[in-house]
Amino acid sequence: MKIGVLTSGGDAPGMNAAIRAIVRKAIFQGCEVYGIKRGFSGILEGDMVKMDSLSVADILHRGGTILQSARCLEFKTPEGQALAKDQLEKLGLNGLVIIGGDGSFRGAQVLNKMGFQTVGIPGTIDNDIGCTDYSIGFDTAVNTVLDAMNKIRDTASSHNRTCIIEVMGKNAGFIAVSAALTGGAEAVLVPEVPYDLESLATQITKNVARKKSHSVVLVAEGLFGDPNSIDHSSSFKVGNYLSLRTGLDIRVTILGHLQRGGTPTFFDRKIATLMGSKAIDLLLAGETEKMIGYSENRIQIYAMDEAINTKKSLDPEQLELVNILANA
Ligand code: ATP
Repeated sequence: MKIGVLTSGGDAPGMNAAIRAIVRKAIFQGCEVYGIKRGFSGILEGDMVKMDSLSVADILHRGGTILQSARCLEFKTPEGQALAKDQLEKLGLNGLVIIGGDGSFRGAQVLNKMGFQTVGIPGTIDNDIGCTDYSIGFDTAVNTVLDAMNKIRDTASSHNRTCIIEVMGKNAGFIAVSAALTGGAEAVLVPEVPYDLESLATQITKNVARKKSHSVVLVAEGLFGDPNSIDHSSSFKVGNYLSLRTGLDIRVTILGHLQRGGTPTFFDRKIATLMGSKAIDLLLAGETEKMIGYSENRIQIYAMDEAINTKKSLDPEQLELVNILANA
């Protein structure tokens, strides 16, 4: 079998661990493997290189993706898709592993309809992909947020400040809630749950009255408007409101792309490695249009269509627990 692997959409720490497992497991099984550069763009441009065992040496611990990633609009057009078919056929690739988010899986479905076998691996720090409890990169990203929270809290305590920290997650609050729960935030605002800035102002004023040395408020980037626009600044809107309403010393930090990089944690390396290996098993078993997930503490297989069309929801109990533990 000739297998292609690509990373698409936003990069995530652990993608390299998945690429390494895919390449070496495929070679172990007697397959040829090609690395496709910059997502679907690499297919269109014919930018695909044969990978050997050495080509994935020394990448397990590196963030980002050695294959690079991209958003390829041309692949959404009929002309782009016809070109992709030609290019894949020219090289004789018959199986593809697509590492990315739900948009990338839609691309995988297009390739599947053309007759190529496709398997998806969920890779996004946002952890917002349907069916699976876990997507590669989430653990590393939340740990990065925790590290930043620790540092910001040190300085906030020294000056009795209220700090607003904006975290990634697109239109979902999974990073925000997980970091708030384990980093001890005083409050967390996410797009999925209605919030009330007036009661947040009251709560922070009460924190000061009961001699809390600081308040840390986590804000998910998708709280207001489009998280992809450069000036969406959810956190500044919250900060301005709280400043005017409470008169307190407020500081805003947007963690931004810091959250996307860094050496992957044990958990991300492990899940990425297991998923990469399973992807090759599935292709060799003749499976197609499947997404590999990790739920209930084990690798599980889902129909790609189901994964794309299932909306993952936040656990409201976790959000409530953040508030209970901050205000008890
Ligand atoms: P992230 O969650 O990090 O944004 P994603 O995979 O959802 O990852 P998208 O930008 O939505 O990111 O999609 C990545 C790429 O997948 C697109 O640039 C495009 O090349 C391809 N793609 C997305 N949707 C489709 C579609 N409907 N048909 C064909 N290709 C698609």
